[in-house]
Formats: sequence, C-alpha cells, structure tokens
Amino acid sequence: MIHEKSLIRPENLKTHDKLVIDGVDVSGHWSTFIEPRVVTDYNERLQEEIAALPGGEHIHRCWQCGSCTNSCTVNALNPDFNPRFWIYLIRLGMESELLRDKDIIWQCVSCHKCTSACPRDVVPEGVMKATAHWLALKGHTPKSKSMIFDEEFAQQVIETGKIEDGRVIRNFFAKTGQPLMQDWLVEMVKRVARRLPILQGIKMGFAFVFRPKTRGWAKAGAAIEEYVHEQEALQRKALRLGEKS
Ligand code: SF4
Ligand code: SF4
Repeated sequence: MIHEKSLIRPENLKTHDKLVIDGVDVSGHWSTFIEPRVVTDYNERLQEEIAALPGGEHIHRCWQCGSCTNSCTVNALNPDFNPRFWIYLIRLGMESELLRDKDIIWQCVSCHKCTSACPRDVVPEGVMKATAHWLALKGHTPKSKSMIFDEEFAQQVIETGKIEDGRVIRNFFAKTGQPLMQDWLVEMVKRVARRLPILQGIKMGFAFVFRPKTRGWAKAGAAIEEYVHEQEALQRKALRLGEKS
C-alpha cells in the first residue's frame, strides 16, 4: 500500500468541485478519491536481478522505514527521487512502475547519507547504482557516463596496471562526445600545473606519451580481465539477457 500522496499519479486522484452527499457538502479536497489500478505485469525476478548486480546484494533486508529517502541529498532537491519507493517497487516486482522513473534514478550522487542512515545495512546507495546499471543493461536507458568512465578506467588497469589520468579523461571525453577543452578542466590543469614540481610534471608527460606498464603485469591483467568477463557473464545470465522470450 502506498500512503504518500506525492506517489499517486495525478490522473488517478479524483475530486469534485461541487459534491453534496446526503446533504453534506464534500466539495473539493473532501471528495478526493483514488482511482483503483490493477497491475498484471509483475517481474517476479526483479529483486533477484537487482541483487545479482554489484551494490544490490542486500536489497532483501529493507523494511521500508524511509530513513534513506529522508536523508537523501537528491530527494531534498527533487521529491520524485525516492530510494525507499524504488526499493519497494523492486521487491514487489513492479517493473513498469519502476520504469516510470528510469530517467532520474541515475541522479544519485553517491553521497552515502542513505547508507549511513539505513538501520538494516541495505546499502541503498549501492541499490541505486545496481538499479541504474540494470536499466542500462536491459536497454531501458543509454549506458550512463559513469559506466563509460568506469569501463575506461578498468580497461587501462587491465592493460597496463597503471592509471594515467590524462588518458582516462581524454578517452572518456571522446567516448561521450565531449570537447577536451572545457573551461573547468583548463582551469584545474592550470592550478595543478602551478603547484606541480617540475620533475613530477616531466614524469606525467612521459607516462602520457609512452604509456609505461607495471613490470610483470601481463598475468595479473589477464586474471583480472578473466574475472571481469566471468562476472559479466553471470550478470547477463541473472538478467536473462540474450534469451529468446
Ligand atoms: S533506510 Fe534502509 S531499511 Fe529503511 S527504507 Fe531505506 S533501505 Fe529500507
Ligand atoms: S547516495 Fe544517492 S540515494 Fe543515497 S542519499 Fe546520496 S544521493 Fe541519495
């Protein structure tokens, strides 16, 4: 049962400007009714699917206290951003209801306030990440920029055992269609350069051009890559991606 009026679709709220019942004037607010709805398209595996993705593992612990939403940074700015409600929908398998908010779930800023407030160690921030990941994997939303950044970051680690910040940012911008010369970035580079010891600057320039690898990294990189592929395969299986319906 949903008790929050803000969660009821406006078209399902019925009021009468003029209504008198048995001589009692119940016009306006007093005659508010909620149109009943019938949901038939449950995804009974929805909780299982979210729990199969990193961050979603503890969703089953939620007891709907609402502390996550009450403490949420984004909810304070946008009341439609409601982690408690989305966890409720996922646990009930109400996929079509969840999809109504698919374009705002990614807005979680990873501040961890919800995770600190949660009395059940659900890690709601992780559930938000898993849900955004689920939406992208299922094709409901485009791959998020943070996913593209994570992939670029992981790829560099796998290939070289090192992170070269300049290359990560350049490739990330290229993959997301962003110009490299952005005012905030130019300003940040200028400020860093002003305080950077010359030797460190030379080392960074060398790393950018020659892309050195960690010595003996090949085996470790291959093992990490194999693990990543195994996990991706498990996730695809849990989400039944590629299965004929
Ligand atoms: S704070 Fe934790 S237990 Fe409470 S509603 Fe949020 S996720 Fe569920
Ligand atoms: S981590 Fe995300 S869901 Fe949790 S409080 Fe911060 S913005 Fe809200």
